[in-house]
Amino acid sequence: MQRVAIIGAGISGLMCARLLSSQFEVTLFDKSRGVSGRMATRRVDEFDIAFDHGAQYFTIRSEAMQTWLDQWLESNVVARWNGNVVVLRPGMPPEQEPTVRYVANPAMNALGKHLAKGQSIETNTQISQAEKTSGGWMLSTTEDVQHGPFDLLISTVPPTQALDILGEVSPLREVLLAQEFDPCWATLVYFAEPVPISYDAAFVHENPLRWICRNNSKPGRNSEKECWVLHASGDWSNEYQERASDEITPRLLKAFTEATGCQLPEIRYATSHHWRFSAPKTPLERSFLWDETSQLGICGDWCSGARVEGALFSGYSLASQLLEQFR
Ligand SMILES: Cc1cc2nc3c(=O)[nH]c(=O)nc-3n(C[C@H](O)[C@H](O)[C@H](O)COP(=O)(O)OP(=O)(O)OC[C@H]3O[C@@H](n4cnc5c(N)ncnc54)[C@H](O)[C@@H]3O)c2cc1C
Repeated sequence: MQRVAIIGAGISGLMCARLLSSQFEVTLFDKSRGVSGRMATRRVDEFDIAFDHGAQYFTIRSEAMQTWLDQWLESNVVARWNGNVVVLRPGMPPEQEPTVRYVANPAMNALGKHLAKGQSIETNTQISQAEKTSGGWMLSTTEDVQHGPFDLLISTVPPTQALDILGEVSPLREVLLAQEFDPCWATLVYFAEPVPISYDAAFVHENPLRWICRNNSKPGRNSEKECWVLHASGDWSNEYQERASDEITPRLLKAFTEATGCQLPEIRYATSHHWRFSAPKTPLERSFLWDETSQLGICGDWCSGARVEGALFSGYSLASQLLEQFR
């Protein structure tokens, strides 16, 4: 069996691994403690609360992904979120935003955990270098541990990180160099009582925030714990990216009050998380990249649509091509 290394156990890497493992010996590597990447959940044991601080929900529009969605709905790993989502503009009444939205159940990282079942995954393993040798791909970690050789290498990390790993000679260097990501500041706040507004989430305009969400309005969450996730816009997050988390939290809470016009209840817990690579500015429309000579594949949301569905589709498309090619 040919050996494949996948760097990154986010949703694209996991989807790719899930398909490839029928025909290849696959090992995933991720620098984090758990899987799922930006489709993430932050737990706070002290208060027995959790926040989806990365991806908030997802939509499915492609036929290929609809088949997967149906299976996940059937097994209750994913559920439809019927939250009341609106658009907020200063001086205007909230406007309904009726898209059909799905969330992983009971937390956003549940889909990644589901896809990870049965996979060989090395977590807490940050890959610092990948080198193509005559025997195959060799990987080095930041702890100076070597893994390999692998016949095929797949990178799913954001382009800047891929460049660091693959180095100057990467055959896909030009494409990777051309990609830029926006950061995102996320504030997570637990209130003693419900926030007195009629909607559960909003796309916010003309404010430092671009999105606010009552996390506990999603299915499977503890509805009694009033947890909100506030996401700052790309522009604001860029401007404030060097600031400390403590400085961000009060600013985004103030922006929350301004956007909603309501008096906030007592706060029991609040913190802010900085996503350095939140969203690609101009995603490619190629699904994935493949270099035949070096046997190097690249997938991830930035190859295909910038969202959860794009990441799933990118991993799925690369795996489908490789299954066909190496059959
Ligand atoms: C704040 C925020 C809000 C979002 N909201 C939505 C939304 O509402 N709806 C939606 O559809 N999408 C949303 N997204 C986007 C969505 O989360 C992503 O499109 C999707 O999760 C990307 O998956 P991926 O596998 O391509 O990348 P990632 O999830 O980034 O996976 C890459 C993985 O690589 C790992 N990694 C990185 N470097 C290394 C290394 N050197 N060695 C080993 N491992 C490494 C990382 O730990 C990570 O697990 C949001 C993202 C953010 C950050």
